[in-house]
Amino acid sequence: MTFTPHGKHLIAGEWLTGSEDFTSAPAHGPAHSYSVGRVSDVDAAAQAAEDAFWSFGYTTREVRANFLNAIADEIEARADAITEIGTQETGLPEGRLQGERGRTTGQLRLFASHILQGDYLDQRHDVALPDRAPLARPDLKMIQRPIGPIAVFGASNFPLAFSTAGGDTAAAFAAGCPVVVKGHSAHPGTSEIIAEAVLAAIKSCDLHPGVFSLIQGGNREVGGALVQHPLIKAVGFTGSLAGGRALFDLCAARPEPIPFFGELGSVNPMFILNNAQNARGEDIAKGWAGSLTMGAGQFCTNPGIAIVHAGDSGEAFVKSVHDALSETGAQTMLTDGIASAYRDGQRRIAQTSGVQDVLTSTCDQRDATPYLYRTTAQNWLQNEALAEEVFGPLGVVVLAENVDEMREIALSLQGQLTCTLHMDDDDTVAAQSLMPVLERKAGRILANGFPTGVEVADAMIHGGPYPASTNFGATSVGTLSIRRFLRPVCYQNLPAALLPA
Ligand code: NAP
Repeated sequence: MTFTPHGKHLIAGEWLTGSEDFTSAPAHGPAHSYSVGRVSDVDAAAQAAEDAFWSFGYTTREVRANFLNAIADEIEARADAITEIGTQETGLPEGRLQGERGRTTGQLRLFASHILQGDYLDQRHDVALPDRAPLARPDLKMIQRPIGPIAVFGASNFPLAFSTAGGDTAAAFAAGCPVVVKGHSAHPGTSEIIAEAVLAAIKSCDLHPGVFSLIQGGNREVGGALVQHPLIKAVGFTGSLAGGRALFDLCAARPEPIPFFGELGSVNPMFILNNAQNARGEDIAKGWAGSLTMGAGQFCTNPGIAIVHAGDSGEAFVKSVHDALSETGAQTMLTDGIASAYRDGQRRIAQTSGVQDVLTSTCDQRDATPYLYRTTAQNWLQNEALAEEVFGPLGVVVLAENVDEMREIALSLQGQLTCTLHMDDDDTVAAQSLMPVLERKAGRILANGFPTGVEVADAMIHGGPYPASTNFGATSVGTLSIRRFLRPVCYQNLPAALLPA
C-alpha cells in the first residue's frame, strides 16, 4: 500500500489547507507539498481542544483505555504505509521503523492497562476527626485530575515513538487531556498518516473531534504561538537545547506560566572501572561502538563519553574502540541540518586543545561516519565545551589516572539522562564512591549495559537535571510520564455527589 500525503493540517476533525506550502526533504523517495502552519491554525486547534476537554476530561478510564487501544489498532492497520513513508522521510532503515511502530503501539496499550488499574490517581483520604481537640479535622480526599489541552512537539529522531501519537500524546490522552501536535518538519508525511489513525480512533470511539489536532511545521512562529496560547496548559518537547530553552523561556514568561516538559541534551557518560576494564575491556569497547553508532548516533541516550583508566588497559580499550568503529560505514542522518550540526560539533571537539584524533573520516551532505577522540581527565575538566552533546556517532575517550579523577569528572557534569558504570564485583568500593555524585546528576544509572535502549515500563525515568530535561521531577518515557499532565485536587467535606466519578 503506497501512501500519498495530501499535505493538510488536521484541526478538530477537518483536514485543512493553508495559504502557503513547504516541500518535504526526504532522504529518498518523492518529496511532497505540505501546508505551512499558521498562528490562526494554532488558535483554532487550541480552542477545539478546550471545547473537547469539557467532555474528554470527564470520560471514564474505560473510555480512554478503549481510545488508546483503538489508536494502536489503527496504526497497525496502516503498518506498511507508515514504514514506507517513515523510511523515506528519515532515512532510518525499515527494521527500525517496524520496531519503533511496535514500541509506539505497545506504549499506547500500556497506558490503557495502566489507567484501568487506577494506581496513577494516587487517591488519598484523611477521614474526618470531628472530636479532635483543640480543632476538628475535616474529611480530606485527594485525587489527580487532568489539566487541560497539551501541546506536543514531535521529535525528529523518533518519528513514531516520540512524535504524533508517541509517548507524550499517549500519556496526555491517558490522563484525559486533548492534544495539539506541532509536527516536526523532518517527517510531515509520517505525522499525517499517524494523525489519520488517531482521527479514525476518535470517530470509532465517538469522541469530540477537538481531542486531537496536528499542525504541520514550516514556520517557526507556530511553535512560539502554541506554547504561548492561553488555552494550552503544558508542553511536551524532545529536541535541541537551544530550541527547547527558547520555548521553555516563552512558557515561563506567559502571564500564566505553564510547565514545559522538555527533554533536551545529554552526553550520557560511561565510567569504566579498573577490574572490569582489565577483565573485559575489549568487549566493553565493542559494545560501546555498537551503541554509539546505532541509528547514526541520533539517540538522546547516545553514550558520547567513556571515562577509562589510563595505562596499558586504557590504550588497549582505545584501540579496540577504534577497530570496532572503523568497520562502521556512513549512515544517513535525519535531516541536512542535523548532519551539518554533527560536522560543526565534530570540528568543535577536534579543535579543542589537548584533544587527539583516534579515528577521523570524511562525510558530507546527509551522511555521518563515526569519529573518535581521546584526551586526559585534566584536559577534559579544563574545557567545558568537551562536555557538550554532539548529536551523532562521535565518541570521546577520557583517560583518568585514578578513581578520584573520575569522581572529579562526575562532579563537574551537567544534568544527564543517564550515567553508566562498567564494573566487576571487585570494583564495588570505587563504584560506591561515585554513586552519591551520579545520583545527583542523572535520571537513570546503569551497570554493565548501554543506555541507548529505553524500556517503556513503570520504573523507567527518561529525564534528569537540566539540561537533560527542563523538569527534573518528571519522565517522558514510562507510565510515570502521565503525572506531567495531572494535577492533584483536594476535596474537603464534599458530599459524594460532587466528587469525581
Ligand atoms: P529542534 O531544532 O529543537 O526542533 C524541535 C522542534 O521544536 C521542531 O518542531 C522545531 O520547529 C521547534 N522549534 C525549535 N526551536 C524553536 C523556536 N525557537 N521557536 C519555535 N519552535 C522551535 O530539534 P531537531 O530539529 O530535532 O534537531 C536539531 C538538533 O536537536 C540536533 O542536531 C540535535 O542536537 C538535537 N536533538 C536532540 C535530541 C535529544 O533527544 N536530546 C533529539 C533530537 C534532536 P521546526 O520544525 O520549525 O524546526
